[in-house]
Amino acid sequence: MASRFQLTSAAELELASTIETLELVRVQLPLMEPFVAAHGTETTRDLVLVHVVGADGVSGWGECEALGAATYTSEDAEGAWRFLLDHLGPAVLAGRPVDVRPHPMAWTAVQVAILDLSLRRSGVALAVHLGATRTSVPSGAVIGRRDSIDEVLAAVAGHLDDEVALIKLKIAPGWDVEPLAAVRATWPDLPLAADANGAYRADDTVWPALDALGLAYIEQPLGRAEVEATVALQRRLRTPIALDESIRSADDLRFWIECGFTGVVNIKASRVGGTDEAMAAISLAVAGGLGAFVGGMLEGGVGRATSLALAGLTGLTIPTDLGPSARYFDRDLTDPFVLTAGHLTVPAGPGIGVVPRPDRLAACTVSHRTMRR
Ligand code: MG
Repeated sequence: MASRFQLTSAAELELASTIETLELVRVQLPLMEPFVAAHGTETTRDLVLVHVVGADGVSGWGECEALGAATYTSEDAEGAWRFLLDHLGPAVLAGRPVDVRPHPMAWTAVQVAILDLSLRRSGVALAVHLGATRTSVPSGAVIGRRDSIDEVLAAVAGHLDDEVALIKLKIAPGWDVEPLAAVRATWPDLPLAADANGAYRADDTVWPALDALGLAYIEQPLGRAEVEATVALQRRLRTPIALDESIRSADDLRFWIECGFTGVVNIKASRVGGTDEAMAAISLAVAGGLGAFVGGMLEGGVGRATSLALAGLTGLTIPTDLGPSARYFDRDLTDPFVLTAGHLTVPAGPGIGVVPRPDRLAACTVSHRTMRR
């Protein structure tokens, strides 16, 4: 497993040796509205973009999805920026192996940028490279915590006008059964899910009430490492449990399956350390009969394009919760992703299929560094 987190294979080193410059671009994208989850609130999306340019002038882009604060995982945007600037960027340019296991999101930005460059050279779309066969995917919507039930119902109604395939509410103790039951009462047949971001305990009294709501899944009910308690909770519930924060590599998922986990897995390339590792996790999930979907991370356009390529794989039977750009940003960094009859289009152009718009980069960049071989 460790090899997937190091620049050590002959092919990777050969590819890295063709990179002349590696740029780091830190951007601040204002969110349309604060996103409130059990782990914290994001008001501005702080992203680090990696841009690699080859001697032939071909370039590739990758996006680091670490949040502004180390809440969702132990990575944060500032730490990722320092790691990329001080360690990972120089190591890539020197063709020097580097252990990136503590920084999967920073590594993913580099891995995707190098892969994007390689695929652009050969004119192959990332989705095709990964084996994705779907040209568009049904999209669900995630609703962060609101001030009132009426606000939740209004938000759901707005998404249903857009024909989304599933609604997922962020929940936390004190904000769970009541909003979910209100949505369920209003739309009895709606595919509905909940994401707890690890905010509950196995002995909480809320489980029977949540289990009675006919949810598609309850995501990350317990802490990341609570394997036994989560597997035991799953046995008490009819509702599938989905793992998000618990899965930081394909090996993590293998371990959970060996421990008897039978639910659903939320796949995020950035969380597991790149598209190769995400593919390995998806293969395990499909082989193990688990449900799986690609989850969103408040991505900018570069990250959204990368995630949509993965979401195009046929083994992912549950709607992605990636959404259109306009749900998050007044203006995205790339041309915007739009929802058409509840579906998002998988990018078909070479590489990840998108590049940041120069005018948007100019407007949103707060720091910029260029490293040369
Ligand atoms: Mg989640």
